Amino acid sequence: MNSVVLFTSDLRLHDHPALRAALAAAHDVVPLFVRDPAVDRSGFAAPNRLAFLADCLADLDAGLRDRGGRLVVRTGDTVAELHAVARQADADEVHMAAGCSRFARDREARLRHALESDGRRLYVHDGVTTAVPPGAVTPQGSDHFAVFTPYFRRWAAEPLRTPLAAPRAVRVAGGVRSEALPSRASVTDVSEGLPTGGEREGRRRLGSWLSRLADTYEERHDDLAGDATSHLSAYLHFGAVSATEAVHRANARGGTGASAFARQLCWRDFHHQVLAARPETATADYRPRQDHWRRGAEAQADLRAWREGRTGYPVVDAAMRQLAHEGWMHNRGRLIAASFLTKTLYVDWREGARHFLDLLVDGDVANNQLNWQWVAGTGTDTRPNRVLNPVLQGRKYDPHGAYVRRWVPELAGLPAGTIHEPWKLTGPERDACDYPDPIVALADGLARFRHARGRD
Ligand code: FAD
Repeated sequence: MNSVVLFTSDLRLHDHPALRAALAAAHDVVPLFVRDPAVDRSGFAAPNRLAFLADCLADLDAGLRDRGGRLVVRTGDTVAELHAVARQADADEVHMAAGCSRFARDREARLRHALESDGRRLYVHDGVTTAVPPGAVTPQGSDHFAVFTPYFRRWAAEPLRTPLAAPRAVRVAGGVRSEALPSRASVTDVSEGLPTGGEREGRRRLGSWLSRLADTYEERHDDLAGDATSHLSAYLHFGAVSATEAVHRANARGGTGASAFARQLCWRDFHHQVLAARPETATADYRPRQDHWRRGAEAQADLRAWREGRTGYPVVDAAMRQLAHEGWMHNRGRLIAASFLTKTLYVDWREGARHFLDLLVDGDVANNQLNWQWVAGTGTDTRPNRVLNPVLQGRKYDPHGAYVRRWVPELAGLPAGTIHEPWKLTGPERDACDYPDPIVALADGLARFRHARGRD
């Protein structure tokens, strides 16, 4: 008997329960990845993620070849391609990881139907893409946790499965054709500073981060210029690093930094369990608050300035330029930039989320949309009216102005005292500073900033 393992957001060989089950069930397997045009049509196939994906696939193929196998890549409708491969390989079983988005759920249902109508079986494995599967812990009377802290308590007490070793050998069924792997070089419009993808690089980063920086994570995770977070988000998003293994290794490391890191991984699972229970929140407000977002020409101009990093608020502009350059943004930058767009400019969170998804290498429906909703006040935040003042945030999390200087070269010559408020410069200093005036005034003392020109 042969089997197929369908790779989706789990592009690794270590700690892969679906791959392990496929290998255990069969003599030969087909490790398959399908490039589905439906993903391209959804607008989700952004260049930065396509480039990172190409690295991940190349690395997965290399890892399989080291073990005597290879990766089979096909382009087309996932159901049709998988069905054709299962027939060609004479596979009775197909194994894959469970997904939490509506797209992933629909795909699973279609696959199950197609395979079962042909006498084959689909096995969908939980706990491959998240440490704790969505729905594994629930509060009484609901299918998901709506508040993070009680979720965290239950999540932390939940026993985790032991991470699996990578297989030693993989025998691939003969006679199954593969297309050439997509190449990173063929992807255009990729951010200059995009990292290298793949399991090997992800594991190297996890190891070196846990041994070198994890201990200082709790104190330094908000330090914009220090950049002391793990940078593992894209590896986790593509499944090049296992979330379960990352939590295990953080727990084994111990200490306040590693615990704080594990807590962040819990945020990832938290958003996944919300999206799994409420898939419509990828676009619809989780908690509608009767917002009447600004939409006219002025709002569009503000949105453009925000996207381009020209709002006149240095820390916001620095964050937006980091996003364009690296395809990644520091979490504190994401919070400040998202709060500025939704609370200060009062522009719909969906506009900001779309721009982030166009660029983020870790762009993820659950984490991106639900973090945006959290900041916009339509999500799971228990204090939906909180507003981040970009000047105070800049002074607090970039006290010396190093982050702003790195990303906004027009302000590189300014001292820490004025760098977060360059509009206060006067005379020749002001004339020499080629940087826009703030596009909006901040109304001091208000719980919610109000747009200086009113809502259009
Ligand atoms: P670390 O600080 O080292 O954290 C470790 C891991 O924990 C991260 O890699 C990530 O997987 C997870 N994590 C950390 N913070 C969060 C969080 N708030 N929510 C969910 N998971 C978290 N993260 C994404 O992975 N994809 C996104 O598309 C995304 N969009 C975001 C949009 C907004 C508006 C905001 C405020 C946050 C967003 N985040 C997103 C969460 C967070 O900013 C990133 O995960 C983090 O900055 C990635 O850097 P890191 O790997 O160094 O994180």
